[in-house]
Amino acid sequence: MMIALVTGAGSGIGAAIAIRLAAEGHRVAVNDLSQSAAENTVAQIKAAGGTAKAYAADVSDEGAVNAMVAAVTEDFGAPEILVNNAGFGHQALFLEIEPAMFDKIFAVHVRGNYLCTRACLPAMLEKGAGHIVNIASQLGQIGGVELTHYAGAKAAVIGMTKSLAREVSNKGVRVNAVAPGPINTPLVEALSEDWKAAKRAELPLGRFGSPAEVGGVVAFLVSDDAALFVGQTLGPNSGDVML
Ligand code: NAP
Repeated sequence: MMIALVTGAGSGIGAAIAIRLAAEGHRVAVNDLSQSAAENTVAQIKAAGGTAKAYAADVSDEGAVNAMVAAVTEDFGAPEILVNNAGFGHQALFLEIEPAMFDKIFAVHVRGNYLCTRACLPAMLEKGAGHIVNIASQLGQIGGVELTHYAGAKAAVIGMTKSLAREVSNKGVRVNAVAPGPINTPLVEALSEDWKAAKRAELPLGRFGSPAEVGGVVAFLVSDDAALFVGQTLGPNSGDVML
């Protein structure tokens, strides 16, 4: 059993990943921007008999990330599983994307991924073992109207996944990505009912995914059953994107 750090795990997909990894017996460091949201996930894990602790930090803040990883290492040991999940959605036509929002999208999704990986990778390399799972999006594969900034950031995450996988796989660290389609979380629930109904209708599966279904994909990727998966982008997307 391993020590896992899951970012953005106070809600939605991240919370489900943390809960699933804990159910598999891993000890889970639950990160979120908000301490109370992280504590809520920790309480669910503990109620089910698992081991977890909350760590509030903004993944785009270098000092906060380094302090968080140091604290996790002190409490549990160095993370052997890192799930870069923290993120947020934002829609705007290209010319309406403000530079500050463009920078924020890339700061959280891309810089946050870089900073958390940078803080956790040395111990993984020293041990010769580790797992990094990056939560991208199918929008990083196919793009989306009003989503140039978000889709661009998620495409960057997929490119970073492949590049780092090429660098470190032969040193025992497996790096993969998950590119979900629409998943029922607060991020998607905030979208208009019309959009959701139209989207559901065009999905081959006819329904959105649940956060727990993404949690299962992450649990697979960090298991020995996924030993041959390196630099891959798995698509729990209800059939929306078929590559
Ligand atoms: P969610 O329910 O809004 O959860 C995201 C969590 O990340 C929130 O608790 C949020 O905290 C936290 N967070 C945001 N910025 C952060 C930061 N700078 N540092 C630390 N934590 C931060 O969204 P979700 O749908 O589960 O999304 C999780 C990931 O899946 C995201 O990367 C998203 O892009 C990706 N994704 C989602 C879907 C989908 O359909 N839902 C599809 C594809 C990919 P606050 O709430 O306090 O801001």
